Amino acid sequence: MAPTQPPADEKLTGYRRKRDFSRTSEPAGDPAATAGPTAAPRFVVQRHRARRLHYDVRFEIDGVLVSWAVPKGPTLDAGVRHAAFHVEDHPIEYIDFEGVIPAGEYGGGDVIVWDAGTWEPGEDDPAAAVAAGELHAELHGSKLRGRFVLVRTGQDSAGKEQWLMLHKHDDFAVPGWDPEEHPRSVLSGRTNDEVLADPDRMWRSDLPAGEASIALKQLPRGATADELAALARLPGSGQWRIFGRELKVTNLDKVLFEGSADHQPISKREFLAYTAQIATMTLPYLAGRALNMHRFPQGAASNGFWQKELPDWAPDWLNRWQNPDVEPGESRTYLVVDEPAALVWAANFGALEWHAWTSLTDRPHRPGYALIDIDPGASTSWQDVLVLARLHRTAFEHLNLLARPKVTGRRGIQIWVPISRGPSFADTRQWVEQLSRTVGAVVPELLSWKWGVRDRGGRARLDYTQNAINKTLVAPYSPRPAPGAPVSMPIGWAELDDPGLRPDGFGIRTVSRRVAERGDEFRPLLTARQALPPLG
Ligand code: MN
Repeated sequence: MAPTQPPADEKLTGYRRKRDFSRTSEPAGDPAATAGPTAAPRFVVQRHRARRLHYDVRFEIDGVLVSWAVPKGPTLDAGVRHAAFHVEDHPIEYIDFEGVIPAGEYGGGDVIVWDAGTWEPGEDDPAAAVAAGELHAELHGSKLRGRFVLVRTGQDSAGKEQWLMLHKHDDFAVPGWDPEEHPRSVLSGRTNDEVLADPDRMWRSDLPAGEASIALKQLPRGATADELAALARLPGSGQWRIFGRELKVTNLDKVLFEGSADHQPISKREFLAYTAQIATMTLPYLAGRALNMHRFPQGAASNGFWQKELPDWAPDWLNRWQNPDVEPGESRTYLVVDEPAALVWAANFGALEWHAWTSLTDRPHRPGYALIDIDPGASTSWQDVLVLARLHRTAFEHLNLLARPKVTGRRGIQIWVPISRGPSFADTRQWVEQLSRTVGAVVPELLSWKWGVRDRGGRARLDYTQNAINKTLVAPYSPRPAPGAPVSMPIGWAELDDPGLRPDGFGIRTVSRRVAERGDEFRPLLTARQALPPLG
């Protein structure tokens, strides 16, 4: 690094300003991650679909990625000049990033590494050349080769630097060469569409750069084979050592889910095994929240009931929360599932369905999600539900908001929208009502807004009223009380177009295969921080 240059950390000021700086005070950009002084400097071109498609052309200079956004992309055609906009330096860790940036974040969209390689600056001091408004670069990439020039032409009214990017007339120039005819990543061979449909990584610009690239497909470990084998060996009741806890489990051979024409009966033993396998995966959706337990101790075919109060004989190690706003006659002490063994305890207690609060216990009046519940009526078909879900998908695309659907395991679909804590339940309820009424106006024949089931004429309801304290939707991966133990399964938006999708098509016997293939489709929600935009 030339001594006259500010350290890389100081050069990232613009990038960090664009991050929501209130989220973290840790520095971005790790000088240790930069190439050594003897290594040839690198460049990368990322094809980035944000609000508008553009190519980000980035040169490694003094430990940061000095960057231009080029809407039409770089070209080997020496006869054309493409407009370029000098944008913030990016941290060096971004150089091989390919994946998605959450909607609502700076640069929200999808990114591929369109080209990468090394470069030779035409000037001794490339940072000074950039400052002076003309950079010469010889690129050694997979697609881009030869001599390029970036030259500053002026500033727009917003103060953004306007530049031109061009290829010199050299041996590598190719007349008529169009970057859009070479759309695949040099890292993965995938297009932006393919990466968007199945991203491996997410970039969280609000985190320190060394931690910002999040792997989306590494799944947390569930119960071990030894732990499951120990459960299988137990007689009807016994002590089960699971996730480091010693649990008394009971009535293991009782049928909890009746058989049907399509399904074998499922015992409590199998239900507990499922719970132990999925507990680490569903834990982030339960942790820190009060749990309302939908109990069916006599099995899914019997009448269930809600139990909110944690009995006082429950083990001491279970985390619990005292609701400070409790009214006389209401439950006061709630189970908080903060470790996977706690969910296994609840399952043994007969909690077939897991309903965590939308708010965390530290601020129970501030929801972390806005929830949309597409609640089918007696004459609502599955196709109708899909129509309603796809309309919401379109709405979220227009709003540039991250949201994810899940099938309920019964007949419906719910959509979860992660938000920064701040708005009240009244705020989220009003926002969801406004969104759903706008969406619903497209298909008024499918919907009723009447309160009573009998007044709805068999039509569906978009139920915004679940956005309230101590009202809950079923948690991701929770079983539902029906034959086959169907599961409320997070899905990708594209699956709404899969003709094989069914609202109750995932059961506890098929979930492990599903999550091995698809990962956790809700995982991006866990790290998103979004404000609900005005709906006009
Ligand atoms: Mn960009």
